[in-house]
Amino acid sequence: MIKFHFELPKLGYQLGDLTPMMSQQTLSIHYEKHFRTYVDNLNQLVDGSKFEGLSLNELVRHAPDGQIADNAGQVLNHMLFFEQLSPTQNAKRPSGEFLFLVEQTFGSFDKMLEHLHKAALALFGSGWTFLAVNEIGEIKILSLSNGDNPLRYNLTPILAIDVWEHAYYLDYQNRRKDYLKNLFLLVNWQIVSSRLP
Ligand code: MN
Repeated sequence: MIKFHFELPKLGYQLGDLTPMMSQQTLSIHYEKHFRTYVDNLNQLVDGSKFEGLSLNELVRHAPDGQIADNAGQVLNHMLFFEQLSPTQNAKRPSGEFLFLVEQTFGSFDKMLEHLHKAALALFGSGWTFLAVNEIGEIKILSLSNGDNPLRYNLTPILAIDVWEHAYYLDYQNRRKDYLKNLFLLVNWQIVSSRLP
């Protein structure tokens, strides 16, 4: 019998709340189908294995390359992705320590967005572009393939941009650039800041 270790997290908004930047249909398929499948797969793979009982972060960090690492990475990536979005106009610019770090590294918040956009646009194939923090508190932009996650490189992810086609194809087809531009309008930077280690 399968014991269910991991659950699909609840969204902080309704499926129709992110229109027109992200349609209800895209969000519904992405969240209720793709994300749920990664959660279900991970539960089945971990059940009865030597990885049973490990936390999601431990799985992402320590599972050897393969199905468990892929699905654990996708579960964590999607948790970060959906949690950081918000339909409200609050918190659309960062502040405090996070803004200070961003300005120190990139010169300005807008410059950072530009670099993020470029990195996500340049990612070949399916994957993710992240803002992540290293052990001495520096912010980095990195792009990783498939279900990979910065935790596997000793970096803490604080923003996760889904660049798999399933995240945007229904709304934007091949126009990844427009998807990214609109996605940035949905990011709640307060949530991103709160992930600083
Ligand atoms: Mn996705």
